[in-house]
Amino acid sequence: HAAFRELIRLKVEEQLKDAKTKSTKLGLSIQTDKTIRKEFASRNRAALESALDNHFRRFFVTTDTLKVEKFVIYDSDFNLIGNATAPKSTANPNSVPCPTLAKTASQRRGANRFKTLSGLCTTGNSPYLSTIVPLGGLRARGYLQVVIDPALNLQRIEEELGLPLRLTDNKGLTAYQSSRWPQRKTSDSVLIVSYELKNANAEAILQISLAYDVSQLYAKLKETRTFILLAAGVSIVLTILFSLFLLEITALSPLKTLTNHLHNVRKDKSRLVEEINILGNKEVNSLADGFNEFTNELHSLHGTLETMAYTDALTQLPNRELFYDRLNQIVKIDQRLATPFALFMMDLDRFKLINDTLGHHIGDRLLQETSSRLKTVLRDTDTTARLGGDEFAALMPAVTDADGAALVASRIVNILSEPYIIEGHTLNVGVSVGIVLHPHHGHDSNELMQRADIAMYYAKNNDRGFSFYDSDLDTHNVLELTLESELKKAIENDELQLHYQPKIAIDRGQIYGVEALLRWVHPERGFIPPDAFIPLAEQTGLIHALTQWVLQTASKQAALWHSQGILLNVAVNLSAQNLRDPNLASVIRETIAQAGIEPQHLTLELTESAVMTNTEQALDTLHKLDTMGLQLSVDDFGTGYSSLAYLKRLPVDEIKIDRSFVMEMDKDKNDEIIVRSTIDLAHNMGLKVTAEGIETEQAWTMLRDLGCDLGQGYFMCRPVDATALEDWFQNSSWTLPSQSEPLKALKNKARKQKKKRLVKA
Ligand code: C2E
Ligand code: CA
Ligand code: CA
Repeated sequence: HAAFRELIRLKVEEQLKDAKTKSTKLGLSIQTDKTIRKEFASRNRAALESALDNHFRRFFVTTDTLKVEKFVIYDSDFNLIGNATAPKSTANPNSVPCPTLAKTASQRRGANRFKTLSGLCTTGNSPYLSTIVPLGGLRARGYLQVVIDPALNLQRIEEELGLPLRLTDNKGLTAYQSSRWPQRKTSDSVLIVSYELKNANAEAILQISLAYDVSQLYAKLKETRTFILLAAGVSIVLTILFSLFLLEITALSPLKTLTNHLHNVRKDKSRLVEEINILGNKEVNSLADGFNEFTNELHSLHGTLETMAYTDALTQLPNRELFYDRLNQIVKIDQRLATPFALFMMDLDRFKLINDTLGHHIGDRLLQETSSRLKTVLRDTDTTARLGGDEFAALMPAVTDADGAALVASRIVNILSEPYIIEGHTLNVGVSVGIVLHPHHGHDSNELMQRADIAMYYAKNNDRGFSFYDSDLDTHNVLELTLESELKKAIENDELQLHYQPKIAIDRGQIYGVEALLRWVHPERGFIPPDAFIPLAEQTGLIHALTQWVLQTASKQAALWHSQGILLNVAVNLSAQNLRDPNLASVIRETIAQAGIEPQHLTLELTESAVMTNTEQALDTLHKLDTMGLQLSVDDFGTGYSSLAYLKRLPVDEIKIDRSFVMEMDKDKNDEIIVRSTIDLAHNMGLKVTAEGIETEQAWTMLRDLGCDLGQGYFMCRPVDATALEDWFQNSSWTLPSQSEPLKALKNKARKQKKKRLVKA
């Protein structure tokens, strides 16, 4: 009992810890939501709550990992600003569960106020796990409380230990019970062990019980005894057989073996490969040889037929039958575990037109080329099939979440939208991909296939490349939809522009470099600010193409300036999603090599939250970029949830203090203190500091006195296009970094310091 209880306790702790981490991550991702920040700042309760509500619908964040019940937002004094309750939650929408946690949090002082805090409690009979995350970074403008039902997480223990589980609330009512839970405690053979989960005040809030069937143990013992008896019996029989064998060695038994084998093969075709070895007289042996030869041929014939039945003759991909077969298999095995996987349904665009006008021969070649392109994107463990016509499908057991699926889908869309060159024709095809995720979008194979189909048609009709199935596809914002397809065209049609804003080395008044900022001039809607379309590009995967365009354009522009003797650094903004792209480093390497600029002249600006995501992929990418010799900068510093202590362990070179602090620092004492201490701490760690949003001479002077390295803002220059910037170079009073490169010395010193810092950390 005691050992068992300890095991349960360990498992419970492990699950709760995991739930806390996930709640914190969820909280962090919500606080980057621009709408939430805006409505929180304006204290518009209705709009804030509706924005929070939206997060319940963002299935990919929490599905199957957290059962979120409530989001609560407080101001910095823990006054309630707004709250939202999950659609299916039983929690009272008008009250906040577990008020004591907020009270404890409000009593914290100093740096502790910036930490996350979690606690268990009950309200009514329901157990809750609440996690409080500070909002607004260094200025701690408020707090977000994420309330989840821990029962969902605890249910995972059942799967991990393979034993039936029951959760009972503090009134003794069952909150969850495994379908395998013993009906009634009929015999003494069932052992039930319980562990009580307590809150901070040592009051029980949930009881976790596991049942263990001891009768299995008895059965095993019985089995072993039977086995021993059986083994003894078998050895006696074998001895007798062996004697018979010695007697009948010449003919009788070899013939019998042959007949038996024949019989077996008739029942199970796969046994055709088994060679039969018999020792007998000459006639019997040659009969056996003939038999072996014959069955071997039959076997290969059987194999060919089997392959033909399951392969598409044109592309050599699995066909519809095999695809359904695999899908059924994986769904069936999976019924209990519900392991996630992704299913794609793909249909080529414009294929029929090509087939009709250029003929089936070209059409066939195009399908073959499509299948080899698909193979370059998909893995061996995936099943890629041609379902017929120009319809393909893929089953991906390794793709388990929406982000992963979106990544693969955008790769497929990219590779299939590259022109096909077939017998002198250049053909533009393209594809529409419908995506479903198991088990989120469905459990059985028919449902999954149907829904993937719906998603695919939706993608096709809306010119979206790919689309996830969503039961309320129609609630999508119409404006966003059209903007999205237009953004795609904008990348191709040259409607995008880069503006450049200078970054100035404050102590010597010399231009250090520029930041490239994206502009979209829409033919009808006019100017669209980056804040309006970059989130959209992030949601749809277009961000990859967009970033690539920015990198290329900015590098070429820098190379041009370098060739005129103006050695500027150029900074490009990256999104969190770019860091998740495993190809990012190699794409950048190629881009700068092609443009012909040195890596130290390219700075990558990453927002605080992107750097803090802290996934293995992101860390790996950061290190790769650092080794390449690029400058890494943490943008909008102070608005997110990062600590300088954590940044210490990352290979970054620079932080950019968010403009909201700099713009007010000449009026707001608090902001001035934040700017001052950030500069000091960053310098101690060997980080360069840029202040953005310098709008007045007064701010400039203050920053110079504080020893800030670089400055950027309307006071010096607004972001303008390359031509206007060149005019500014001529007419402004700042000097250009031309012949010699005086900033290099500074940089070398900083690099050494960084290396030391990373080694220490
Ligand atoms: P950001 O990276 O923080 O860029 C600085 C923003 O501050 C720019 O806004 C710039 O025009 C503005 N700014 C500069 N000096 C001042 C000043 O003195 N006062 C004030 N009030 N504002 C100043 P912009 O160009 O509207 O860009 C907004 C955001 O859009 C950028 O913020 C960045 O996060 C994003 N963005 C822009 N271009 C790209 C891009 O190519 N890729 C990605 N992923 N994001 C981009
Ligand atoms: Ca930036
Ligand atoms: Ca910024």
